[in-house]
Amino acid sequence: MLTYEEARQRILDRLSPLGVERIPLDAAAGRTLAGEVRAPGDLPPWDNSAMDGYAVRSEDCRGEAVLAIAGYQTAGGPDAAAVPPGGAVRIMTGAPIPQKCDAVVPFEDAEERDGSVRVRVPVHPRRHIRFRGEDVRAGERIIPEGTILRPPEISLLASFGRAMIPVYRKPRVAVLSTGDELVELGETAGAGKIVNSNSHALASAIVEAGGEPVLLGIARDEREDLRTKLSEGLAADVLVTSAGVSAGDRDLVRDVLAELGVENVFWKVLVKPGGPTAFGVAGRKPVFSLPGNPVSSLITFEVFVRPALRRMAGSTDPVKIPVKAALAEPVKKNAGKTQFLRVRIESGEEGYVARTAGDQNSGILRTLVLADGIAVLPLERTDFAAGEKVDVLLLYGR
Ligand code: AMP
Ligand code: MG
Repeated sequence: MLTYEEARQRILDRLSPLGVERIPLDAAAGRTLAGEVRAPGDLPPWDNSAMDGYAVRSEDCRGEAVLAIAGYQTAGGPDAAAVPPGGAVRIMTGAPIPQKCDAVVPFEDAEERDGSVRVRVPVHPRRHIRFRGEDVRAGERIIPEGTILRPPEISLLASFGRAMIPVYRKPRVAVLSTGDELVELGETAGAGKIVNSNSHALASAIVEAGGEPVLLGIARDEREDLRTKLSEGLAADVLVTSAGVSAGDRDLVRDVLAELGVENVFWKVLVKPGGPTAFGVAGRKPVFSLPGNPVSSLITFEVFVRPALRRMAGSTDPVKIPVKAALAEPVKKNAGKTQFLRVRIESGEEGYVARTAGDQNSGILRTLVLADGIAVLPLERTDFAAGEKVDVLLLYGR
């Protein structure tokens, strides 16, 4: 049986980014840039004022000086004429520096009266000017291939006038829940029946991971229905199923996937919860069979499916970076499996503190609702002291 890390690596080894599409800049936040971007010009494009004040020739202002106001330069207004010796231009932040000027005196260091300005402080050349190209130089690589586009990257791309951006396509992820006990959301769950909550939980997790869910509903625990719906799912970029992969009499998902030509890469991982997770490929198409238990399906999605979707969406580092957190209390576990402990995160004097979010039984969904993250407790370890630092994967934007 594979360890958590081995299983995740087996998955990532099979995957590569999907194709590229060009989309409007305003739709690009959170998407992954396909290809690097080089600066088509300098930023700022010309020398401009960093303050509201007066553009001056610094040589005129070695001591206290009185300068004649020779013009007015607003941001976006017409260019003021070159400034003669002994002159100054009233200038606004962002406006181009008039010719012959080499510094700006802010309003607070000057006093304007009757068409002249008195400068009370010595002025150093280059003061309060933002120079052409000091932020970005033409031709420089400004955003590397595989970057997740965040508001700062959007800002940079917009400032260079880029309206359309090449990004990796979002993976379309088919979700199929299986089980004779399930009814759809909106239907009444009669005796022995429960609502199919996993499809909805997984769909929202897919959106969070940057994919596009395609809900295929419920397949009953019988071969014919499974065959029809699983083959439908194989038309998407990724297929995720829930339940029917344990050792029960009616756990037929893996059987039927094999009949449909899905090559089994692994079944069962040394993790808790989520042990029965299976992964296979239909050609290059990944198929994840997650356990049915709502807690297990979301946790195995987080640790196995999410990195896969990030990779397919073009991310160069698809595995979430854990944070270190000190355990608030001692924790015991059995050796032989990596345990995913649902924890709440608090801020302590030496950084994060992780406190158990409640009953860790995989039947208790409330504990996941209360959790900010999952602490990853290594396979071989058994006893953790209070204060010991462990890796925590923060969940859902925490
Ligand atoms: P199984 O993997 O089929 O043994 O299912 C494990 C547990 O998860 C059982 O208690 C199922 O009733 C429950 N379960 C399976 N599928 C779903 C689902 N789609 N939504 C909510 N609970 C489910
Ligand atoms: Mg079942």
